[in-house]
Amino acid sequence: MLEFSVLASGSSGNAVYIKTDQTSLLLDVGISGRQVQQRLQAAANAKLEDIDAILVTHEHIDHVRGLKQAVKVSDAKIYTTQGTWHHVYRQVEEHCSPDRVTWVVADQPFTVGDIKVTPFSVSHDAEEPVAYRFDAGDDSLAVVTDLGYVSDHIKQVIQDCAAYVWEANHDVDMLRAGRYPWSVKRRILGDKGHLSNYDCAVALADILGDRLVEVYLAHLSEENNQPDLAELTVQSVLREIKSSYGEQVRLHRTARHTATTLRAL
Ligand SMILES: [Zn+2]
Ligand SMILES: [Zn+2]
Repeated sequence: MLEFSVLASGSSGNAVYIKTDQTSLLLDVGISGRQVQQRLQAAANAKLEDIDAILVTHEHIDHVRGLKQAVKVSDAKIYTTQGTWHHVYRQVEEHCSPDRVTWVVADQPFTVGDIKVTPFSVSHDAEEPVAYRFDAGDDSLAVVTDLGYVSDHIKQVIQDCAAYVWEANHDVDMLRAGRYPWSVKRRILGDKGHLSNYDCAVALADILGDRLVEVYLAHLSEENNQPDLAELTVQSVLREIKSSYGEQVRLHRTARHTATTLRAL
């Protein structure tokens, strides 16, 4: 049985806890070590010291802020692409012997305990960013954030999951009308930026089969989005594409400052 909790989500920090009975891992450590400890405890009665592996998606600070502390207090193996490692190793090398690190290559699945992990490339303004799909027995989860668009290849890789943590970063109109400088707006809206609420819904509709899916809307911008608006947009775009999609997709919220309830798939 695969279980997960989104410990934090948003441009201020991201981390997801994923576990089975035998294995536990952290996907990104974008909040402080202390916050990770508190939220692991609150959501799952778990401890950083017991984590088996830390997987990193890319080097942006909202994904690696607490990495040093997490590496220091645990014996967890570290998984990152070579490109990401190049940017983060200085933060962690004093606490991390080389044999703890495994380089991840897109489209080359590996296992951590009894969890199969499939990394795939995403288009984002980092050196070698990836996102991951997790499978244990019949349970599956994909965490898809920090990407400018969802390619056909990604849609194939993440098909048929029971649950998704899926980026709904911004409302395009709020972003356009907002106070960010144009260069930043262009970056967010571009191919290497972030998915809007609308992009999220359209890509999601493309991969829906017949099963019911749990979707955790993630990485919401504090400045250019609101949880109600994200939910409403995704819901209404899905219904517009096919009326039954409204019932087939169960939307959930994630938050900046609290972990989501541990969810069993
Ligand atoms: Zn991010
Ligand atoms: Zn990023």
